[in-house]
Order: sequence, then structure tokens, then C-alpha cells
Amino acid sequence: MKIICCKEHAELAIDIIVDEFETAPVVELLTEKDELSTTCEYCNEAGVYKVSNI
Ligand SMILES: [Zn+2]
Repeated sequence: MKIICCKEHAELAIDIIVDEFETAPVVELLTEKDELSTTCEYCNEAGVYKVSNI
């Protein structure tokens, strides 16, 4: 599972991964061009972080 989110929603994304997988997620800054144009899952801001359970 991978969640793209803005700064505001990073904590929310982390909570969701922890709840769902009971494991600490990996939080990375977006670097790839295609990902940088992705908007946050929870609002219309540009994504800044990628939160994943891998
Ligand atoms: Zn957001």
C-alpha cells in the first residue's frame, strides 16, 4: 500500500497504515517526476510524501 500525501496529511497517512497493517510505515520525500505531479490523497495540495508499508 502506498499513500501520496501533502505535509498536512502525512500524520493521517501514517495513522492509516499503522491501523491497517500494524506496522510502522516508511515515509519518503517524493523525488520522481511522475510522483511529484500527484496530488495528496486527502486534499488538492501537491503530494510531498510517500507513505508505504513496504
Ligand atoms: Zn493533503
